[in-house]
Amino acid sequence: MYIKLWGVRGSIPTPITSAEYRSRLKRALEFARDRWQTDPQKPAANVIEELPIETATLIGGETTCVEVRDGDDFLILDLGTGARMLGYELMGKGPPRVYNILLTHTHWDHMQGWPFFVPGYLPGHELHIYSAFPDCEERFIRQQTFEHFPVEFKQMASSRSFHLFENDTHQEISGFKVSSFNLKHPGGAAAFKIERNGKKFIFATDTEYFGPDLAEQIEMSRGFFADADLLVMDAQYTMEDASAKIGWGHTPTQNTIECALQWNVRKLVLTHHEPTYIDAKVLELYQDGLEYLTDHDSKNKDTLTVEVGVEGAVYSL
Ligand SMILES: [Zn+2]
Ligand SMILES: [Zn+2]
Repeated sequence: MYIKLWGVRGSIPTPITSAEYRSRLKRALEFARDRWQTDPQKPAANVIEELPIETATLIGGETTCVEVRDGDDFLILDLGTGARMLGYELMGKGPPRVYNILLTHTHWDHMQGWPFFVPGYLPGHELHIYSAFPDCEERFIRQQTFEHFPVEFKQMASSRSFHLFENDTHQEISGFKVSSFNLKHPGGAAAFKIERNGKKFIFATDTEYFGPDLAEQIEMSRGFFADADLLVMDAQYTMEDASAKIGWGHTPTQNTIECALQWNVRKLVLTHHEPTYIDAKVLELYQDGLEYLTDHDSKNKDTLTVEVGVEGAVYSL
């Protein structure tokens, strides 16, 4: 399986600000000046390779969208604003005619890319949208009324079918075994487990593993999450913000790592980054998470790797 993250920001698209861009430029120039003082011939590309992570890494501002592919078989998870760029790439490759889309839920940051997803406008293109919501089509129609967007949902030339994917069930879709699991989130959200060739990828964004019942929550979810090869999971908050935002439906990074340890996950990728955190803060939170992992006494820590989700990142299983 090939998995690509097209959007990793939570809640609302978050482009880099001019102030942050200039501050990075300043740090990069100062870093390069020091390098060139000792080695004036060092190629710029090599200097860029040596830049510290907080200067070189762009987390990305698009909201949730993930592509899962195995040869010509593929699935799309969520239609956040990252879906716009995915749509362009799919068209550039010679477009497929059938698209299977798994929707975790219908908060804006998970479906706002839809009106900009080019395949949706093309006749002869067949889109299948799976979710736990019997009224999912009405939700798309409401998002796209004429007051809010010049082309209404029903005017789009592709054909769309909506399919119910009830929680705690599984279906075969495009050659993948897909299972769903109900998450704690306002209005409901589903995690999806995608299995193929003995490998397990789980996508669990928009969920709140926090509070006095955390241990019980982790235990109740174990059957679904156990032994995942790759888990891409909500890690939106610091502990402090999680305490101030109880019931908002998101998890502090430390608890996301605790979950992955308890479930014996092989690789954890942190996602749904808080829009008010600049990239440096997201990376700081990630570093704190790595320290938490290092200090942990779980035997699973030696087999778990943790990465911060970055727009455009690709994983293969
Ligand atoms: Zn969200
Ligand atoms: Zn949500």
